[in-house]
Amino acid sequence: MKKIILTGLVLLAVTACKTNPFTGKSTLNFYPNSQVFPTAFAQYDQFLESNKVVKGTSDAQMITKVGQRIASAAERWLNANGYPGYLKDYKWEYNLVQDETVNAWCMPGGKIVFYTGILPITQDETGVAVVMGHEVAHALADHGAQRMSASTLQQLGAVAGNVAIQDEKTLGLFNQAYGVGSQIGVMLPFSRGHETEADRIGLQIMAIAGYDPSEAAELWKRMKANSGGQAPPEFLSTHPSNDTRINNLTAWAPAAKQEARKFGVTSFE
Ligand SMILES: [Zn+2]
Repeated sequence: MKKIILTGLVLLAVTACKTNPFTGKSTLNFYPNSQVFPTAFAQYDQFLESNKVVKGTSDAQMITKVGQRIASAAERWLNANGYPGYLKDYKWEYNLVQDETVNAWCMPGGKIVFYTGILPITQDETGVAVVMGHEVAHALADHGAQRMSASTLQQLGAVAGNVAIQDEKTLGLFNQAYGVGSQIGVMLPFSRGHETEADRIGLQIMAIAGYDPSEAAELWKRMKANSGGQAPPEFLSTHPSNDTRINNLTAWAPAAKQEARKFGVTSFE
């Protein structure tokens, strides 16, 4: 019996491994967009209802503008690399909320929130593009769904054989992975590997969107200077350390510019 269950788990794991175009890696993900997105969209709407959404200000307009450019850059990159329609189920949305926490996130399916508390650190449109690129990259690389899958595998190990993934369970895992529910919108920290991936992908996308990738290291220097302040784990930057992240971003910026030139981007703002 144990052997059968184990074989089942291995089969499930094998069939759930898909190559993500942004990471080029085959990673464990039991959760297709069709299962994760409806949960994400509902949680996002609930978040907006229970927070003060800033509308019509120049800051709010800037968030939308950068978001649209970042989304469009991701689409262009996918089209050029043989993945047209990859984001067809995305329903991009960009909102600014009045909240002094240094925070921003992107839920699966392109649901983005910036907090006013991060704007003194982003400083300008390019700074917003650095953070937006990074957060969108977590979504594009399916980092949340991977975390949900890892929890599922643990739970399957505990409740052997029960491989039917119920909707209710999806919501629970989603909340666990995204930290919504109890403390809404406070993302749990991603692993070091996921953070580094998001930095690299984000840099690429911001460059294709026409923003200067050299500014990414500058943004994280400002974040480091602010690290004593109030920020959730995503921006406390314990992993990778601030210095590692700044060094990586500095080293990767020229390649990001080079890639962007393939898309006809010759100047960066
Ligand atoms: Zn991150």
